[in-house]
Amino acid sequence: MATADVVVMGGGIFGLSVAWACVRRGARVHLCEAARIGAGSSGGIVGALAPHVPETWNPKKAFQLESLLMAEGFWGEVAAVSGIDPGYLRSGRWQPLADDAAVEMARGREAGAAEFWRGRAGWRVVKSPPDGWAPESATGLMVEDTLTARLNPRAAARALVAAIRTKGGVVEEGRVEPPAGVLGPRRTAVVWATGMAGLEVLSSEVGRKVGAGVKGQAALFACEAGARPQIFAEGLHIVPHQDGTVAVGSTSERDFADGSAVDGQVEALIERARALCPMLREAPVIERWAGVRPRAKSRAPMLGPWPGRDRHYIANGGFKIGFGMAPKVADVMADLVLEGRDGIPEGFRVEDSL
Ligand SMILES: Cc1cc2nc3c(=O)[nH]c(=O)nc-3n(C[C@H](O)[C@H](O)[C@H](O)COP(=O)(O)OP(=O)(O)OC[C@H]3O[C@@H](n4cnc5c(N)ncnc54)[C@H](O)[C@@H]3O)c2cc1C
Repeated sequence: MATADVVVMGGGIFGLSVAWACVRRGARVHLCEAARIGAGSSGGIVGALAPHVPETWNPKKAFQLESLLMAEGFWGEVAAVSGIDPGYLRSGRWQPLADDAAVEMARGREAGAAEFWRGRAGWRVVKSPPDGWAPESATGLMVEDTLTARLNPRAAARALVAAIRTKGGVVEEGRVEPPAGVLGPRRTAVVWATGMAGLEVLSSEVGRKVGAGVKGQAALFACEAGARPQIFAEGLHIVPHQDGTVAVGSTSERDFADGSAVDGQVEALIERARALCPMLREAPVIERWAGVRPRAKSRAPMLGPWPGRDRHYIANGGFKIGFGMAPKVADVMADLVLEGRDGIPEGFRVEDSL
């Protein structure tokens, strides 16, 4: 077994993206996944890459904007190297506006988008089209943004694995510790992107809770919605995918006994989606899925050196937007691990959750 420059622990979207960012820069990378690729919260079905609202700007929103803008190039390269389409499309998003207060707020954000997104994406109030896809809007108006994109989570993971292997990286399933043979005498870095399990290990190591899991349930309809924009209405993300499915998510549950069990809450979500979106009324549900999002105490991604462990790093805390954050998280982690360059923004450090 050859020694590696970087060992990545965890085959979710953070681990795979970090491994890819390192391997494409020429590093020797070995990724180990405890169970199977996508066994954690990255194995789901929703895949909305949606921005924060363009107002009260802060480093977290700026980081997310950069990541969303990087996504097209990131996923395009992964598709080209792997030969697998990750289902990325910047298809935009519609948000119906229920009353005058919502319209006023949305118009205020038009100015925010102009200021903070600086022409790289649009956010504007438009008339709702009567096309059988958009939910009814009491005001006849909705927000249309051109930044939101979609990604097929499972296809994205497959594409990343293939791209990493094409560039000479190793991806291994069924392993919970770095294999001794790949650790070089001094230089090998180990990046722990182990989701909820990683937050628990760190919590017990530092003697206090650094984060918690938030369960989510989602559903997948068989429905051909083509390249229509995704919808965000009444807290639901309704995301058309190119394979003739539409995903709907998600519940947000802090108290749960079984993180992978679906129950009546997903049925309620399905009914709400059907009530909102005319095209879903008769569409069959082909999958119900549940997973646990890794939420750091700071609620932001948790990135940087593992306290007290030489050459060990953490990439965790993707919470509700891990897929959207992955390209930039991967870049920042590769900078840190391979070049010692620290571009982690304020509020995203491991210490912020200790
Ligand atoms: C219902 C639901 C809907 C969501 N929708 C969206 C969305 O639309 N858009 C979006 O951006 N985000 C969404 N998210 C959030 C997103 O899924 C998470 O932020 C993301 O998956 C976190 O990725 P991760 O790689 O950090 O963790 P995980 O995917 O959980 O990966 C961690 C991996 O580490 C492995 N592991 C654990 N311990 C070890 C060990 N010791 N050694 C090796 N491997 C180990 C696990 O088996 C697992 O595969 C959603 C989440 C849920 C639950």
